[in-house]
Amino acid sequence: MGLVSAACLPGSDLPPPTFPVQHTETEWLQKLSPEQYRVLRGAGTEPACSGAFYDHHGQGTYHCVGCGNLLFRSLQKFESGTGWPSYFQPATPQSVGTRIDTSHGMVRTEVHCARCGGHLGHLFEDGPAPTGLRYCINSVVLEFRPDLP
Ligand SMILES: [Zn+2]
Repeated sequence: MGLVSAACLPGSDLPPPTFPVQHTETEWLQKLSPEQYRVLRGAGTEPACSGAFYDHHGQGTYHCVGCGNLLFRSLQKFESGTGWPSYFQPATPQSVGTRIDTSHGMVRTEVHCARCGGHLGHLFEDGPAPTGLRYCINSVVLEFRPDLP
């Protein structure tokens, strides 16, 4: 019997990624509304056409409600017809992260905030040019900041 780290045994999960912004669950519960907490920290999904931003056309930037991280710009938003705000590209390549999500019997690409790890939505490959990507995001985890005139 050699010394084998538990992390090397088959079937063990990779350690969860760590993010620059860390809070305890109690702190998250105090910081977020119940619906924000359900989506951002519980990987929930808001009902289609229920959010503030699916039909929102202001010029500005969209930030994470969990940590204020810049996520998307209005110039990257498009009409997807899905009932969720949709973007073809994040504000910067470092704004969001992705991972494979196999929950609910589907294989999807999950999108999260790169600073706090909060769940934002999912990424699909049926978006418009120039990227062909569709970042399908829950309004409730977004904070809109209008551009100054
Ligand atoms: Zn965040």
